Amino acid sequence: MAKCPKCGMEVAKPTKTWKLAPKGKKAITIGLYKCAGCGAFFRAAMK
Ligand SMILES: [Zn+2]
Repeated sequence: MAKCPKCGMEVAKPTKTWKLAPKGKKAITIGLYKCAGCGAFFRAAMK
C-alpha cells in the first residue's frame, strides 16, 4: 500500500517491484506504483 504524492489516493498493489541493496546496508524492496486516480507513476519502499 502506498499513497500517491499527487492526489493522495492509496494504491494497493505495485506494478513492479525490485530489490535495492546499498553496500553495507540491508536490502529494501522498491515498488513502482501507478495511481488509479490521476495516472501518475511513483516509487515507494515496501515494508
Ligand atoms: Zn494520484
